[in-house]
Amino acid sequence: MPEQADDNHHRYGGKPDDERRLAPAMLTGLKGRCPACGKGKLFYKYLKTVDHCENCGTEIHHHRADDLPAYLVILVLGHFMVGGYMTGAELFDVPDWVHLAVWVPLTALTAFALIQPMKGVVIGLQWALKMHGFDGKGREEAVDYSER
Ligand SMILES: [Zn+2]
Repeated sequence: MPEQADDNHHRYGGKPDDERRLAPAMLTGLKGRCPACGKGKLFYKYLKTVDHCENCGTEIHHHRADDLPAYLVILVLGHFMVGGYMTGAELFDVPDWVHLAVWVPLTALTAFALIQPMKGVVIGLQWALKMHGFDGKGREEAVDYSER
C-alpha cells in the first residue's frame, strides 16, 4: 500500500518535495496565478480563466470549478454578514433602512471581491488533486460533463 500513502500526502498538503502540494496550489490560485508554476495569470477576465498558462503551458481550460466558488463565498460571507448585522442591531438603535443601506451593498461588494480569488482556490485544489484533466491525460480522456 505504499502508493496509497503517497496519494494521501498529495491530498492533505504533502511533503515539501511532493510534485503537487495542496495548500500551496490553493494559495497560488487565491492570488490568481497558475497553480503549476505560480507565475502565469489564471484569469484573462474577471471570472474567465485562461486556456493554458502563458508561462509554463499548463492547460487550465478543463477545470470544473462550476458553482463551488459561489457556494463557498456565500458560506463564508453569510456567517460574517449575518453576524455583523445582528451585532450591529444589538449595539446601535437605528432604523431598518440604515441596516439595509449598510449591509446589502457591503455584502454585494465583498462577494464580488471574493469570487475570483475563491475560484482560483478551487482551481488550485483541482490541479493539486489531479481532477478533471489536471492528471495530465488531457481533455479527451477526462470526463467532460458539459457534453452530457
Ligand atoms: Zn503556469
